[in-house]
Amino acid sequence: MVDGMRELLKLGLEEVQKGLSNKDFSASELVSAYISRAKETAHLNAYITLSEESAMDAARESDRRIAKGEARSMEGVPIGIKDLFCTKGERTTAASRMLYNFVPQYESHVTELAKSAGCVSVGKQNMDEFAMGSASNTGVFGEVRNPWDTECLAGGSSGGGAASVAAMSALVALGTDTGGSVRQPSSFCGVVGVRPTYGRCSRFGIIAYASSFDQAGVFARSTEDCAKMLQVISGHDPRDATSSKEKVPLFSEKIGKSIKGMRVGIPKEWETDGLEPCVASAWENWKRWLREAGCEIVSVSIPSLKYAMACYYVLVPAEASSNLARYDGIRYGHRTDSFIDVQGLYKKSRAEGFGWEVKRRIIIGTYVLSHGYYDAYYKKAQKVRAMIAKEFMDTFSGGIDVLLSPTSPTTAFRSDDAPTDPVTLYLNDMLTLPINVAGVCAISVPGGVSEHMRPIGLQLIAAPFQEGKLFQFASVIEKNAAMPRCPLA
Ligand code: GLN
Repeated sequence: MVDGMRELLKLGLEEVQKGLSNKDFSASELVSAYISRAKETAHLNAYITLSEESAMDAARESDRRIAKGEARSMEGVPIGIKDLFCTKGERTTAASRMLYNFVPQYESHVTELAKSAGCVSVGKQNMDEFAMGSASNTGVFGEVRNPWDTECLAGGSSGGGAASVAAMSALVALGTDTGGSVRQPSSFCGVVGVRPTYGRCSRFGIIAYASSFDQAGVFARSTEDCAKMLQVISGHDPRDATSSKEKVPLFSEKIGKSIKGMRVGIPKEWETDGLEPCVASAWENWKRWLREAGCEIVSVSIPSLKYAMACYYVLVPAEASSNLARYDGIRYGHRTDSFIDVQGLYKKSRAEGFGWEVKRRIIIGTYVLSHGYYDAYYKKAQKVRAMIAKEFMDTFSGGIDVLLSPTSPTTAFRSDDAPTDPVTLYLNDMLTLPINVAGVCAISVPGGVSEHMRPIGLQLIAAPFQEGKLFQFASVIEKNAAMPRCPLA
């Protein structure tokens, strides 16, 4: 790749916008640099489909608009899109054999907002099958490698988004987070990843995993870029009954504002022995940085946190089993070649179309919803969910501005050493999934590297619709962490 092109990849959103309006470079040059970069880093397997032709068409349209002085807020910005967002006329697979050839007839609300603000899609990105997983290794297109160390995995489920932003094959990326799928890969790949409050962004056109937990999120190289992209995709959509009418403030306004006198809670239930030593010691640094910025660090207790994992793995599979019932081989998706009767058609199509992790979730979900077990598992888990949500709310209304923890108990795992037993993998989400159980918002920010140069992310959690506060704190951490450059970037 020529040096001039490489320089373009290093620019943040604001510099890109300045450069485009000053005519230092064109949107076509910018987008083509990103496409070349995506090809050059194809070994990461971050993309399922590269949208070269449509991206170049969109870039030329951006150039025409810029020439006419009609640039939109994100004109010409190259983005990656998780292959879980329906994109009209463009293959959308959920990394599943079930949807291998699925071409949606409509566009998801979030990607529509991004595109109509001028963003250009570089392509559809790799992930765990139907977003079920924590390592981007359950999908039919193979695992996503980590740009910091290609022997390691990118994390998941939105691994392609995190890897591409770190490796500079997308300027920002759109993912989804049901239990940590934006934050955990952000932590593994050393990028910023936000999971906004449930309802902040529309779920319309996002292939459903667990509807009351799913939410779109953003990957970026800085808190500033992350805030700007979240701005674009937030807001009410009448097509999603759970999307919120809450006002969308200017998120970036809080960046750089003092956090002096604010209160940071450390949930004592999370101060366990289960953390990788470098993660535990990084946590101490983060507390120190925030103290130095004038915050008060207080120990808090959220007693029901210990039930969050169990609660999640009852409710999420329950919703998943119901959502995935639609893939029956009749209307769309994979259909088996030979069958005898309609029951056989359902069974064989589903057996062939779904991978192991998805089947496991469907079986668990069907079990907890079945007659005789519904009250014991599903109903009880709903009650526990309400309890957890209340304890989070009480903590915030008791005067805590944000909660602080590591994003993941570990740094990225090696591909040949990734946990094979599902429960161990589920445990990797123990710090992220309570946020989705409670419906609050959280961000992962790079907060240092291990002795093996693997990024360590920290998580900040705030009350519903307080994303601005997340960015305010995140920018303080960002300054202190002074992350080294990703070796592949
Ligand atoms: N790893 C978690 C799961 O498998 C979270 C995935 C997600 O957020 N999509 O459910």
